[in-house]
Amino acid sequence: MGALLRAFDWSKTSLGPIDSWPQSLKTSVSTCLNSRFPILIWWGPEMVKIYNDAYVQLIKAKHPGAFGAPGREVWPEIWPTIGPMLEGVMERGDAPLANDLLLMLERNGYAEECYFTFSYSPIRDESGGVGGIFTPVHETTESVIGDRRLRTLRALSVSRNHSVLGTTEACLNAVRALAANPYDVPFAGIYLFDPTSKIATLTASTAGPDTLTNFPQQLDLSNDEWFADGRLLRGETCEFSAARVRRAPLSLESWSAMIEEIIAVPIVEEGEAAPVGIVVSVISATKRLDDAYRAFFSQIAEEIGEALRDAKTAELEIKLRDAADAEKEKIRALFMHAPAGILMLEGPEHRISLVNEGYLRLVDRVGQKDVVGQTLGGWLPELVVDQGFQNLLDGVYRTGIPYIGTEMPARVNRGDQLQDAYFNFVYQPTWGGDGTISGIMVYVFEVTDQVVARREVESREEQFRVLADSIPHLAWMADPDGDIFWYNQRWYEYTGTTLEEMSGWGWQSVHDPEMLPVVVERYKESLATGHAFSMNFPLRGSDGTFHTFLTLAIPVRDSTGKIVRWFGTNTDVESERKAETALRQSEKLAAVGRLASSIAHEINNPLEAVTNLIYLAKSAPGSEEARTFLESAEVELGRVAQITNQTLRFHKQQSRPAATDVRELFNSILTLYRGKLSHEGVVLQLEMAECAPLLCYAGEIRQVLANLVGNALDAMPHGGTLRLRVRGCTNWKSSTGDPKGSAIRITVADTGHGMTPTTMKRLYEPFFTTKEAFGTGLGLWVSAGIVEKHRGHFHVRSSTKSGKRGTVFTLIFPLSGGLEPAN
Ligand code: ADP
Ligand code: MG
Repeated sequence: MGALLRAFDWSKTSLGPIDSWPQSLKTSVSTCLNSRFPILIWWGPEMVKIYNDAYVQLIKAKHPGAFGAPGREVWPEIWPTIGPMLEGVMERGDAPLANDLLLMLERNGYAEECYFTFSYSPIRDESGGVGGIFTPVHETTESVIGDRRLRTLRALSVSRNHSVLGTTEACLNAVRALAANPYDVPFAGIYLFDPTSKIATLTASTAGPDTLTNFPQQLDLSNDEWFADGRLLRGETCEFSAARVRRAPLSLESWSAMIEEIIAVPIVEEGEAAPVGIVVSVISATKRLDDAYRAFFSQIAEEIGEALRDAKTAELEIKLRDAADAEKEKIRALFMHAPAGILMLEGPEHRISLVNEGYLRLVDRVGQKDVVGQTLGGWLPELVVDQGFQNLLDGVYRTGIPYIGTEMPARVNRGDQLQDAYFNFVYQPTWGGDGTISGIMVYVFEVTDQVVARREVESREEQFRVLADSIPHLAWMADPDGDIFWYNQRWYEYTGTTLEEMSGWGWQSVHDPEMLPVVVERYKESLATGHAFSMNFPLRGSDGTFHTFLTLAIPVRDSTGKIVRWFGTNTDVESERKAETALRQSEKLAAVGRLASSIAHEINNPLEAVTNLIYLAKSAPGSEEARTFLESAEVELGRVAQITNQTLRFHKQQSRPAATDVRELFNSILTLYRGKLSHEGVVLQLEMAECAPLLCYAGEIRQVLANLVGNALDAMPHGGTLRLRVRGCTNWKSSTGDPKGSAIRITVADTGHGMTPTTMKRLYEPFFTTKEAFGTGLGLWVSAGIVEKHRGHFHVRSSTKSGKRGTVFTLIFPLSGGLEPAN
């Protein structure tokens, strides 16, 4: 500038040639030129400009035109601002300081936004007045605009910190921050790409809704002229001149006058391969794009990218949270409707934070609303505090050891009163985030029914055992395989054995070895088929003697029909067996008696005749020797006669007839046959009317009846019905003319196999039997004699046809007509 100063033709200016310049100007100019700080000197009334090299950098295109030129001509665009300031200095010697003063300098061919800090110092001339102004100038454009952009970026960044719901809200927040700085961002719009298509949608813009329409809502990136070269899609920033902008489908009518340039910056989101959108910004008309400005827009795009990512993360978090909430709600619903009672308790005072329906049901508080928030003890003091559960809870809270209650009795509200109930429950401590116990979860279900049922079974079992020990029978239980695991007390008493000796199949040791194989075979058969076991066999008593036992065993089944055990009894039928034997014996004896009597009877007549003949022969003449023979024959015959008489007397007069209740006779017979009846599954029907006693030889009538009952049972080996009937009746057949009703009618009917007509014909023959070796064929023959003696009579009906199979024996006795009571 020194060279320029010297070469400059100052004479053409109001300053005149340099030689004529006042010393103060010379000194000032020298200071100016030697400074590396931009300095300008205004001189004279025209305010001619002299400046140094550093100042040239500020005014750019105005140099060299401005050098030596009057200020007003150089700076018409800012003269209204600086002109009055300069005049003040010239006229009054002011020394003002301007800080970051905005001056729209047209130093680059357009009105550019520039900021300066400068001071005006008056320079005195020789006359002592102000000749000119010394002006050091510092341009602050960069820092002023830089600060402003920084504020915008900061605002953008701050907008991200708000809890943002979704990308749209993120974009709206971003444009709000951008709209606050219309100097650097006269307009901006954010387009987001549809991830599946090449359509970008305008999501937010700094303009109000009215002007929004100036930007298209959607840009088709594959066809659109703007984006056809694909640079934006590849993540490159694109700049568009005004001419291009006006041709483009972006019609910015209301802006077009101002718009010179547009910049489109792809929004790249971290972690995404392709840009997720673009931010399209109009460039300030008073600031051309430079590196700083471009960097500003890239930072904006970066911030928006981050905001979008944050929003998406937040969105995802919300989705996850929603999913977690839904999951929680599901678990809650599960809790609430679980069939068990569930309580969540918090804190050492066991405050209820959740109670489900099941629990309310357990404590009979269904429908109660204000439960949550209460303490458990406060809510149910009579249950929780009074019955000791509070102590258990306290213990769990203190130690962290869960408590499991099994079949715990508790008295709970049921209706209006407290009732005994049983519960299974768990007190499970819950842990807070800091590792300390935060509360207790209570899980409880009622088991009252089960407990009561089990106790009932237990007590029933106990009752059963007591009962089983009290009966006179031997009793035992076996598992389904036949192993006997229990005997009643009677068994041990009778056999004199112990459980150890008896368990399993140990019972064989008290059996008659001869019978044992059959017993074992029949027992195994029952185990295999599940059919009831029934058999008579002897068992050895502790004294070594055998008694005959009727043994019955029945299977016990569960609800599915499976056999779970066998229950057996052994009934001592030894006395019955003896009685039966005695009966058969007496039957035989009676038969023999009758045989003997009939023989004696048959012998008696010829014997008498022979005796008479011998008597006659004795008195007839003959040899002495013959008489001697006859006399001894007479003695022998006398002996025979005595035997026959004795025999006849014995048969006829065993005892005396007596008035007898026939029902009593039947009862004594039934006692004998009781075992057989139940053994063979015979149903007994008794129809015993009250009737007058029968005058008879009770022993004989009993024998008749016993034989009839015995025959009936013999005819029903597989069960049936035995009907015994006694009643009074009219003795129609009486030859003595008894009054009506003076007879007794006895009926013994069975549903056995019946008799064939041949059998019917031969019934009363001696030795006729269809039972082979087992029968004697004497029963009915003897009975017929006894009945005849009592002047009664038999009547028989029998059928072998299925449906009405069976035999009916009817006996009718005159009550008194038969026998006179002996005196
Ligand atoms: P036992 O009984 O010894 O055979 P009984 O004189 O008592 O001799 O009977 C003779 C026969 O009469 C029997 O063998 C039997 O064939 C027949 N009988 C008797 N009572 C009945 C009856 N209730 N049902 C079928 N048959 C019978
Ligand atoms: Mg018989």
